[in-house]
Amino acid sequence: MPDGAVAVAPVAEICSDLIRFDTTNPGGTERKAAEYVAALLSGMGLEPQVIEAEPGRTNVVARIEGAESGLPALLVQGHLDTVPADAAAWSRHPLSGDIADGCVWGRGAVDMKNAVAMTLAAVGGALAGGRRPRRDLVLAFLADEETGGKLGAGHLVTEHPDLFEGCGAAIGEVGGFNVPVPSAAAPLFAVSVADKGLRWYEVVEKGVAGHGSMLPDDNPIPRLAETTLRLVSSAQPYTITEPMRLLASRVAGRPVTDPGEVADVLANQTGPFGRMFAAGIRTTVNVTRIGAGYKENVIPGEAWARFDCRYVPGHEDGVDEQLTSAAGSGTEVSLLRRSPSVLSDHESEWFGLLTEALRQVSPGCEVAPFVFSGGTDNKWFRTLGMETYGFTPMLLPAGYDYPAMFHGVDERVPVDSLEFGVRVMERLISL
Ligand SMILES: [Zn+2]
Repeated sequence: MPDGAVAVAPVAEICSDLIRFDTTNPGGTERKAAEYVAALLSGMGLEPQVIEAEPGRTNVVARIEGAESGLPALLVQGHLDTVPADAAAWSRHPLSGDIADGCVWGRGAVDMKNAVAMTLAAVGGALAGGRRPRRDLVLAFLADEETGGKLGAGHLVTEHPDLFEGCGAAIGEVGGFNVPVPSAAAPLFAVSVADKGLRWYEVVEKGVAGHGSMLPDDNPIPRLAETTLRLVSSAQPYTITEPMRLLASRVAGRPVTDPGEVADVLANQTGPFGRMFAAGIRTTVNVTRIGAGYKENVIPGEAWARFDCRYVPGHEDGVDEQLTSAAGSGTEVSLLRRSPSVLSDHESEWFGLLTEALRQVSPGCEVAPFVFSGGTDNKWFRTLGMETYGFTPMLLPAGYDYPAMFHGVDERVPVDSLEFGVRVMERLISL
């Protein structure tokens, strides 16, 4: 054990402690959770840096020198903030951190205080056992991911890029879980190599305001309803990338190349992951907000709706075209927000290391890449030239609906899955 290093708590306890800090975003702050993390890192004999872009919006970064410091370094990153939770809908309080029925319960249990806890337990365990990582490790515990990351990863890569010097790859959310494939002899793990990009739009229909008692001249609400239906139901062409073809082939247990078949396998043979994987092979258009009017007897002069569109890497160009052609000529379409997609190499040496770490803990397992349907802090680390992967290794029990846990009610994580993840992370940092 290095000077001053103390043994770390079990991973479930760390995860539970983290959940009890209210890091709701928007609404809470990360400072108390960050101080807790910094104290654990100091206890391991490390020198964490605490960095705030705004008061209370706290990031923690630590570097550990590896035994072979000349090798490219690995960044392990995770966010400390969570989305809000409505306690009335939960069977245990979202900030309870209860350890019950074999699970740790609470907001952040899978997104992603679990990964933060696994990282701390793995690094703490290795250092306490006198095992230095092979390559330099940078650990980053971040603020503000859930509202875009400007005060977290965005702030660090812009204002403190030196913290990440030498990092060839970053691992973070979302990936590293096993996909339930009933026929398979060994688990199949899916590791994310890409985040879809985001484009949010507002669509406005203008009409003629008037009295609600008379025949309408031009009520914009029915037109907005028709436009919305056209936008969300227009069939999107498949945009199938090699990672998704590989994933479908591993799931099916044979090469799958036909786009319709890839779509079918991903949607229908991956259990609860179907909705997420099927979104990884096309642009998605979802209406998420809608509004018009202010009084029952007034026909409003305009009506608006907002759309969350996500595109597969390399397919951003067609999104505007798709929206405007389905919207029609009198409709106003404007872009509210954009976020880039990211795509990393699924044949890189890094992907090989992630595969090897999983195989050392789960002999004979298969590993496939995939395109994550959402966005993560990877978009920020990508700007520094790193390969980025979604890797929160967990072996999930049958019947556990992992995708439903993200931002869901009764978010919880099995303790066994956390302990599996710690073993994989310990292997990874030694490779
Ligand atoms: Zn997250």
